[in-house]
Amino acid sequence: MAKSYRSELVGVFGCPVDENPTIVMEEAAFKAKNLNWRYITMLVKPENLDAAFEALRALNFAGVNLTIPHKVEALKYVDGLSKKAELIGAINTIINRDGKLFGENTDGAGFVQGMQKQGLELRGKSIVVLGAGGASRAICVECALAGAGKLLILNRTLHKADEIAAVVKKNTPCEVKTAEWKGTAHIPPCDILINATSIGLFPDPGFPDIFYEDITPAMIVQDIIPNPAKTEFLKKAKERGAMTYDGLSMLVEQGAIGFKLWTGQDAPTEVMHSALAKEFE
Ligand code: NDP
Repeated sequence: MAKSYRSELVGVFGCPVDENPTIVMEEAAFKAKNLNWRYITMLVKPENLDAAFEALRALNFAGVNLTIPHKVEALKYVDGLSKKAELIGAINTIINRDGKLFGENTDGAGFVQGMQKQGLELRGKSIVVLGAGGASRAICVECALAGAGKLLILNRTLHKADEIAAVVKKNTPCEVKTAEWKGTAHIPPCDILINATSIGLFPDPGFPDIFYEDITPAMIVQDIIPNPAKTEFLKKAKERGAMTYDGLSMLVEQGAIGFKLWTGQDAPTEVMHSALAKEFE
């Protein structure tokens, strides 16, 4: 049988991308599905983002992921956006449809999908979110759209938390409050506590500055840091008896949504999860 030497291309624009683990799980997924696809990490400097988008079209890439610092700036270069990406105000996934570039945000949806796959219901839940960066924004909007009852967003830069709260208030019935995070923060009683800051990401061994005594066994504690999977934050929450969940499932699920958008096929999430877990061992 004739063999095709042409590969479909997807990848990630990042700055820097040398520590980006997405390649590991996406390449494992293509292999498991017997797809002749390649996932490539590309160091794109902010000043070259427009040229990089032109290159996507010229090289006929099926799409890309976007990572820090391109998720907001990239909005300028797409031809269309999903409703959720518009609400979130940032994109992490591009799909090339015959030269038209479509922007999507899979971070928050990946978070919600990861929670649901682990049997965790968000409807009516009270949630405290630490951090108000891009990932927090996507998570807060998606949790509110998924029916969360109450949200409290703590951030050291208060106006960023307020901006997220305004979007949530305008578009969902979720009750949302914000607070400035100064010094060691108290965590009020809640169902779910999420670390959506970048504190604890390898090689930073740190953990969010909160009163860990406020964590109870009734709480679910989730970190979105995928590397290391067992963060100091989760270790401390576990010591308090809380049920803990790591950032791997969110990373896998957001990647799985991208995989389906690009290839049209369901992603082999177990393969992706074990490829990442092995990488971060
Ligand atoms: P941003 O840079 O947009 O936001 C970082 C957030 O962390 C901000 O709220 C920032 O506060 C806060 N922060 C950072 N350092 C400190 C500190 N020392 N004390 C208090 N607050 C701090 O990053 P993203 O939101 O895009 O990403 C956050 C993390 O989430 C990253 O580590 C990334 O790896 C991870 N992530 C995981 C995903 C997954 O699938 N598991 C997907 C996407 C991201 P301030 O606003 O005041 O600066």
